[in-house]
Amino acid sequence: MFARIVIDLTIDQPLDYAIAPGSPEPEPGRLCVVPIGRRQCVGLCVEATPLTNVAPDRIRPLSRVISEVERLSAGWLELTRFAADYYQHAWGEVAVPALPPLLRTPPGPRFSSVLARLRGVRLKSDATAAADRLELNAEQRSSVSAITTQSGFASFVLYGVTGSGKTLVYLETIARILERDPESQCLLLVPEINLTPQLLAQVIARFPEVSVVSMHSGMGDRERSAAWLAAHEGRARIVVGTRLAVFASLPRLGLIVIDEEHDTSYKAGDGVRFSARDLAVKRGQTEGIAVVLGSATPSLETWAHAQAGRYQLLRLSQRVEARAQPVIELIDIGRSQPVSGISTELEQALQDTVAQAEQALVFINRRGYAPVLACAACGWLSSCGRCSVFAAFHKIDSTLRCHHCGWQAKAPRACPTCGNQDLDAVGQGTQRVEEGLHRLLPSARVARIDRDTTRRRGAAESAFDAVHSGATDILVGTQMIAKGHDFQRIAVVGVLNADAQLLSHDFRAPERLFATLTQVAGRAGRAGRASRVLVQTRYPRHPLLGAFARLDYEGFARMQLEERRAASMPPYVSQALLTAESRQLDQALKFLADARSARAGRNAGVKIYDPVPMPVARVGGLYRAQLLIEAVQRGRLQAFLRAWLAEVRTCAKQSKPRVRWRIEVDPQEI
Ligand SMILES: [Zn+2]
Ligand SMILES: [Zn+2]
Repeated sequence: MFARIVIDLTIDQPLDYAIAPGSPEPEPGRLCVVPIGRRQCVGLCVEATPLTNVAPDRIRPLSRVISEVERLSAGWLELTRFAADYYQHAWGEVAVPALPPLLRTPPGPRFSSVLARLRGVRLKSDATAAADRLELNAEQRSSVSAITTQSGFASFVLYGVTGSGKTLVYLETIARILERDPESQCLLLVPEINLTPQLLAQVIARFPEVSVVSMHSGMGDRERSAAWLAAHEGRARIVVGTRLAVFASLPRLGLIVIDEEHDTSYKAGDGVRFSARDLAVKRGQTEGIAVVLGSATPSLETWAHAQAGRYQLLRLSQRVEARAQPVIELIDIGRSQPVSGISTELEQALQDTVAQAEQALVFINRRGYAPVLACAACGWLSSCGRCSVFAAFHKIDSTLRCHHCGWQAKAPRACPTCGNQDLDAVGQGTQRVEEGLHRLLPSARVARIDRDTTRRRGAAESAFDAVHSGATDILVGTQMIAKGHDFQRIAVVGVLNADAQLLSHDFRAPERLFATLTQVAGRAGRAGRASRVLVQTRYPRHPLLGAFARLDYEGFARMQLEERRAASMPPYVSQALLTAESRQLDQALKFLADARSARAGRNAGVKIYDPVPMPVARVGGLYRAQLLIEAVQRGRLQAFLRAWLAEVRTCAKQSKPRVRWRIEVDPQEI
């Protein structure tokens, strides 16, 4: 007998290994140790077979079956195989990295006791007092009942305005699923675990008797392995995790919830660029269970599915706890020149807020002091030496920093080209806005939250705590302040540079901007009275801002989907992006041109565009170029990619100097 094993390498087919006569035959889903060259590595058995194409003198014996760990389920194997096919990777490249650190290396002699210790790790902080059961409103109740009375696979879009209590629907649905089957498990996916401690705390408080584990990249190896094992062995009933948790082994999975399903972090990261949201839906289909996609601004892909009736739409239209919807005001800054980026209207609103001992948020999606330092005498602009972008000026330590590659240097005192000592900081970043607020409102307590202020572990949490406790009057920050935090006393929200995204070349930028604005506006809220959201713009008549001012996501989505359909863009076509990196731009472009012509004439139903430099053409000293591939039928694209990538690999081998390349299916940034 032979065992067919997948390992974490780019190879088309599983590798066959001989099973010694008399040794146990590994079943599919069993982890094994096999020799690869001179080393031993962990692989996954996907098939046991009496036949092999490998010559008898070349076949190697399997080293060891890891029988101490239960095998992975057929559903899990199907999920990873599907993901590998869809995203054009080898099965093992998806399956093996999805295992916890402990199981990715061959077990040592003390493996059993290591496992025993992991099985004893306490998986959550001491059960906090059980939360009071909140009463569900009518919409929440009917959502829960729609999801839980469904049998078999179905996708639900839980479309609820911010503050409408989506979390309560998640928790109640999970409760029903767990009650129905005493062994079932639930998976709750969240975009960024560090920004959602409130959600995790809510889950733990709501289910004090149940073992809840979290899974995210910020965990240590031991903690991660223990959580994985608990889920795999059915001891953990609820898993709260980020994108990688979509591959958690959950043999009794009964429900998948994806919170903030539109969030771009579900499709990100190094390695295989998969969409955790799309795979979660696929997983629900394979397992025959319900999948809930929650958002105040569903992704247009999801919304199109809901409109077509493929996903069932559930609406939560009311804010809970008597919190009124915010009033949105568009402030035209075309004529006035705002001081430190703050318009007089916003300044007045902030003055009033502070005078009434309420709180305000000022959102600007750019850190640093100013995005560029400029010389008015000769036109010199600060730029990164290794990237084709400006280097931002950070006044706090007087540095120039590249936000793409991390390069930094002391900011020059005088223009390096003409010697002019009077350099201008152009535009605004969080530091400059913070400085401006100190000047405009000297008595206000201003705090800033961005990547620079929160590098230290726990720094973000203590800054947020200061807002919750009332020790901060005005919070300035980037996207980090928009996610997950439910503040209680925010009377005013200011949005400073929405225009940058309004004018972006990326066809997904409007969708992202609308989601960000909605999320930022959602932080505004206090019991009883409406809060104000002031958006500063030079384009107050822009239809996107108009829709946002009416809090009309549905109108916006309709408008965008019409545009996308007219222009043949996703979700009406499927795309893949081949990108290449090289020391020379020409090399990267030539590689893509060769790759393009490798399959000329054999691409029926598939459109291949010309190779072009990427929008940021140089990062960290390497030039980057891209080739877009598109098809109306997803199946056509998949079939094309499968055949084509073998030829791309050949082109890559022949290209000198070496070109780094990768393929991304359903790219999010083009
Ligand atoms: Zn100069
Ligand atoms: Zn750089």
